[in-house]
Amino acid sequence: MKRLPEWLTKRPPKAILLKELKEFSKEHKLHTVCESARCPNIGECFAKRTATFMILGDTCTRNCRFCSVMNGKPLPVDPDEPERVAEAVKELRIKHAVITSVTRDDLKDGGALIFAETVKAIRKECPNSTIELLIPDFKASYEAIEMVVKTHPEVIGHNVETVPRLYSIARPQAVYRRSLEVLKTVKEMEPSIYTKSGMMLGLGETKDEVLLVMKDLLENNCDMITLGQYLKPSKEQLEVKEFVTPEMFEEYKDEALKMGFKYVSSSPFVRSSYNAEEFFKEIAKG
Ligand code: SF4
Ligand code: SF4
Repeated sequence: MKRLPEWLTKRPPKAILLKELKEFSKEHKLHTVCESARCPNIGECFAKRTATFMILGDTCTRNCRFCSVMNGKPLPVDPDEPERVAEAVKELRIKHAVITSVTRDDLKDGGALIFAETVKAIRKECPNSTIELLIPDFKASYEAIEMVVKTHPEVIGHNVETVPRLYSIARPQAVYRRSLEVLKTVKEMEPSIYTKSGMMLGLGETKDEVLLVMKDLLENNCDMITLGQYLKPSKEQLEVKEFVTPEMFEEYKDEALKMGFKYVSSSPFVRSSYNAEEFFKEIAKG
């Protein structure tokens, strides 16, 4: 692995916090993307008692080359999972719950029903919490997207992750235009839901390509964007091609705001769910 530049050095998370998160996930039979994706912010986020729950199991039917989530044949859907997520949100007193999932290409609805049930369960258990979903592409199925949109979470995100030229090596089973269509469909169905997308930088993209993705996202009704540095989670994943400097992240932020995004979070450690609560509060203030 490449040596990290000084701006990417971070104190390792406290072992006790990691243990607590593991025990919590085990006790509630839940998965967090924080653990599965080996997120570098895990110590910081869990110290603030926040985590992103990953529903529909821990095994993804896709195999993105930057991602450390397990891939293969997933277990059958667990109908009790939504209740357990809601209980966990209540127990941790999470004010802004962020829920994501693995991609379930094996399911007819892509897992949309479980997303919808999870929103309903959180609304029932924690009526004062706001909800942000980071959804898979559901193969852009109108019916699947509609099932989720109808439950009216405050934010629906879907990440384009990288520039279209790198899809074949980074996200071989995804389709760039299809991901854009997901965001567009969400907003057309329900304009009051905030739409959000994210990119990882450092996979070999050029500045012009990043700006073109931003333009595409805006044209497809995306309100918010997150930009962060790709960090190879283990030896199995793609190499980092470049460590983007904090100054460059600032430049992207300025460009994105000038272009018309309502809110932009851009710095090396940003992930789509990083500081999601603050991010949401900002945009909700208007
Ligand atoms: Fe989890 Fe998101 Fe925080 Fe990473 S940034 S630890 S995925 S909540
Ligand atoms: Fe990871 Fe999502 Fe790709 Fe699955 S679809 S491999 S969870 S990034």
